[in-house]
Amino acid sequence: MKNLALGRRLVASAVIWTLAVLPLAAQTRVSMPKNKYKVQDDVKIGRDASRQVDRQFPMLNDSQAKRYVESVGERLVAAIPTEFRQPAFDYEFDVVNARDINAFALPGGPMYVNRGMIEAAKNEGEMAGVMAHEISHVALRHATAQQTKINSPLNQILGIGAVLGGAVLGGQAGAQAGQIFAAGYFLRYSRDYETQADILGSRIMANAGYDPRDLANMFRTIEQQSGGGRAPEWLSSHPNPGNRYQSINREAGLLNVSPNPIKVTREFSSVQERLRGMPRARSMSEIQRQSQRTGGVSQNPIGGGNYSRNVPAPSTQTRVYSNTAMTVNVPTNWREFNTSGQIWFAPDGAFGNDGITHGAMIGAARTNSSDLSQSTRDYVNELVQANTYLRQAGALQRASVAGRTGYSAVLSGRSPVTGQTEIVTLYTAQLRSGDLFFVAAVVPEQDSYRYNSVFRNLVSSIRLND
Ligand SMILES: [Zn+2]
Repeated sequence: MKNLALGRRLVASAVIWTLAVLPLAAQTRVSMPKNKYKVQDDVKIGRDASRQVDRQFPMLNDSQAKRYVESVGERLVAAIPTEFRQPAFDYEFDVVNARDINAFALPGGPMYVNRGMIEAAKNEGEMAGVMAHEISHVALRHATAQQTKINSPLNQILGIGAVLGGAVLGGQAGAQAGQIFAAGYFLRYSRDYETQADILGSRIMANAGYDPRDLANMFRTIEQQSGGGRAPEWLSSHPNPGNRYQSINREAGLLNVSPNPIKVTREFSSVQERLRGMPRARSMSEIQRQSQRTGGVSQNPIGGGNYSRNVPAPSTQTRVYSNTAMTVNVPTNWREFNTSGQIWFAPDGAFGNDGITHGAMIGAARTNSSDLSQSTRDYVNELVQANTYLRQAGALQRASVAGRTGYSAVLSGRSPVTGQTEIVTLYTAQLRSGDLFFVAAVVPEQDSYRYNSVFRNLVSSIRLND
């Protein structure tokens, strides 16, 4: 310990001396991106999302592996430069029993490392690299900063927690399926933020006694393990900002890296051996398929909801639901739920954790196209992918939605929840930002005659204040 500190001081003074003689490139500066949200928003969003993750993802529940990942995580957290520390954040670590090479961190600190990631790493440094990169996204508050930049009316319609809950954990389609991992289960960061997380991650690595080059190496390890097939989830959520490997290595050259960095440790080898000796872990898509078949792994439906065979007919009286950005009339016997990324309206007996059987889901989705018919088609595809029992029936139709010219599309299929044919009518309109506004009206075919006019009235009553 003493030797290491002495070594560090010596290296540091040598660097200062060199600087005085020859202007060396300084380490790359990182600054907190602009953020209009409170630190407490990050904490709350992450806490809510982590409750969903704990419910829907299989945790490994192996105390040795968990303790080990925690110890590496704590070492990294202690190495966060002072200017990026948030006393309100609570960095916590858990291991997911899935074989995909993946890891993700939620705003405010909860972090999950897949068993597959630990098994794939060549040494502790590589595993720590992924974790340091994730910790950097959290410390720089990238989830809420990204939302600040987008400045979308989604935020006002749904509230930041709902939007980010959806964005962090699977997007609109994910919420629709009730499977938070349905559509890629976390935020896709911008390339700017990737660069920042690589740079800050490198600093954290060096401060914690690791070699930042192991972060660069881990990107290569992950690419190799994907075997030329589909890029692992982690790489698609953390896109390469360009020359990533070279940039991290260059940054490492500017940092004060221990001459004897932590590489393979006894604990790493022992945990890796232990994991490799366990029965093969399922992949996230296997977990998703199995939980869809069994109707979800969740034991806590939202709002204590439960599906029932006796769903009351929609009342003929309506009430006004409004928030800062939207007004809508709904039957008085429909309750509302703010769920990840959407507001759902449904009567008792018609909602559960994986969705609704009767009622309407209202939300907004980011689009890649400024053409509403194209973004509607994209969204229909997303719905079909997330709800594999649904098929589109017929072409898009022009429709008046929220007082705007929009589209409607009908999807149908045998619902795994009710066992009956379900009709989903999707109504879309364009928000001023270009984003997609939608209403998904859901009903079993045999009850649809009672609902058609209810849905029509609901859709035409909507007023958007974007
Ligand atoms: Zn990243």
